[in-house]
Amino acid sequence: MTLHAQTVAALRLPEGILIDGAFGPAAGGCAFATRNPFTGDTIAMVPACGAADVDRAVASARAAFESGVWSGLHPSARKAAMTRLADLILENLEELAAMEALDAGKPITDCREIDVPETAKCIRWHGEAQDKLYGQIAPTAPDALALIVREPVGVVAAVLPWNFPLLMMAWKIGPALATGNSVIVKPAEQTSLTALRLGALALEAGIPPGVLNVITGFGPEVGEPLGRHMDVDALTFTGSTEVGRRFLEYSAQSNLKEVCLEMGGKSAAVILGDAADIPRIAEIQGTAIFWNMGENCTANSRIIAHRDVYDAVVAEMAKVAAGWRLGDQLDPATRNGPLVSAEHFAKVSRLVASGKAQGARVVHGGEGAGGLLFQPTVFAEVTPDMEIFTTEIFGPVVAVTRAESDEEAIQLANRTQYGLAATLYTRDVSRAHRYARMLRAGTVGVNAYSEGEISTPFGGFKASGFGGRDNGLHAHEQYTELKTIWIDLTT
Ligand code: NAD
Repeated sequence: MTLHAQTVAALRLPEGILIDGAFGPAAGGCAFATRNPFTGDTIAMVPACGAADVDRAVASARAAFESGVWSGLHPSARKAAMTRLADLILENLEELAAMEALDAGKPITDCREIDVPETAKCIRWHGEAQDKLYGQIAPTAPDALALIVREPVGVVAAVLPWNFPLLMMAWKIGPALATGNSVIVKPAEQTSLTALRLGALALEAGIPPGVLNVITGFGPEVGEPLGRHMDVDALTFTGSTEVGRRFLEYSAQSNLKEVCLEMGGKSAAVILGDAADIPRIAEIQGTAIFWNMGENCTANSRIIAHRDVYDAVVAEMAKVAAGWRLGDQLDPATRNGPLVSAEHFAKVSRLVASGKAQGARVVHGGEGAGGLLFQPTVFAEVTPDMEIFTTEIFGPVVAVTRAESDEEAIQLANRTQYGLAATLYTRDVSRAHRYARMLRAGTVGVNAYSEGEISTPFGGFKASGFGGRDNGLHAHEQYTELKTIWIDLTT
């Protein structure tokens, strides 16, 4: 038996979708294969849900919410269950990491050291926060008392992407559960397994039936009915900008549910003329674009380098790309596994071909490396009219562009429909502050590639984000309604 087959055989694969605390098949009895992108083998069959399953999951979440079995608990009781869930995630770290690696093609070392521990940390952080939050009292005249309180929105649907399946689920359910809501999760069809396993662990942790439901399937059959459902109060989404836009339409055409969208990016690293230690910067920027196969929303897929450092940046990026180890995602030494699917591999290949056709110069990579592996690719002499400058590739491909001045570098960085993240390199503290403010992005890393951490809000400007932020206490806002209670004290 191969290592892959042995690893699959050791997994506790989910026994269907999770609704109202019970696992079972989709109403229509249909299922689809979820595949290992490295071997092409089927890992498991996953239920293909439809509108009937969506209705059942929403009814279960609504009943749980109205009953107060979770929403009505003392916050410290919710905290205890969420803390237990975080502990269970860590107790099951090896299995969750293997499941995630097999299903998404992500390197096992990243899954062990980043995805699973960060998932546990996120659940714990929001769990612990909830019994330390206070409401407000408004500054009224003495004859009135105005309380400003936050209440759970009620039933929350979360529609997820495939690039960080567990972690994106945690970013949604952490704050949504901490604020007392009931949740329905729809994982991406490419990566359903860990969401279902997390659902089972949540039950084991004491989160009551119906509070966390997980239904699997495709966007039009599950995501759209959730987006249009009249009894879903808020919808939180992470995925492409193209699909994100649709959720605004679904909401407008149904019950005006709250919508929070975390979407695509074309993030730039700006290397100013005074930046020092270009080899170190290239190391960091290698991680910023090649990590997770470039399947990362904040990937710095553009580098805008001042002409004084441009040639050195191109040369050092090529060296970093050449040292990036590709291979079997179950090999602990692998830094990049396969892209998630053949469809995605075809998209990345097409955009790389477009870069070549439009005259950018390949200084490393530029093609596949067997199966669904894709070589870390560095393009130089990229100009703003090229498709590889404007379009999110979502693969290990970086476009390096020359700027004639620091000011032009900032302008080029902002020349995109997106605004998720940016990176800035300079030795000058005044320029660091000034230019960080000028970059139109939700997170700006200075002299480091950064997505912030659990305590800092994460989200995008422009077409990268809408309606709220993930992470930090700011994430609680999208899952709560503000209420004013005005009490007349004169009677
Ligand atoms: P996607 O938009 O194709 O799919 C995301 C989810 O939407 C999936 O669950 C899918 O089934 C569902 N969906 C697809 N079509 C739908 C429809 N018509 N109606 C309702 N639901 C539908 O995105 P993806 O390919 O899974 O993920 C990659 C994208 O996600 C990239 O653009 C990336 O930048 C973005 N992303 C953003 C963040 C962030 O926080 N900003 C984080 C991770 C990924």
